[in-house]
Amino acid sequence: MTTFIDDDRGYLTWIAQHPGGFVLNTARKPAPEYLFLHRATCPHISGTPAKGQFWTKELIKHCAEHRAELRGFARVECGGEAHDCEICQP
Ligand SMILES: [Zn+2]
Repeated sequence: MTTFIDDDRGYLTWIAQHPGGFVLNTARKPAPEYLFLHRATCPHISGTPAKGQFWTKELIKHCAEHRAELRGFARVECGGEAHDCEICQP
């Protein structure tokens, strides 16, 4: 798993290079209240963020080839279950 904090360029490069990968979106200090799992190709977590926003600032991105790794991270390290994005249905 690779975690991107204050590194939008690194994050966008990762999802471009791993179209079959997965992304766990969490707070900067991961908490059980906000754990969302996406496919790397999901439009919610790629492209240009809304004006004045960043991909890896208030919310950070944990990226992995296998979703099980991110679900495990959510459970063990963040204390909650990862919620599946309704758009990309990871
Ligand atoms: Zn999604």
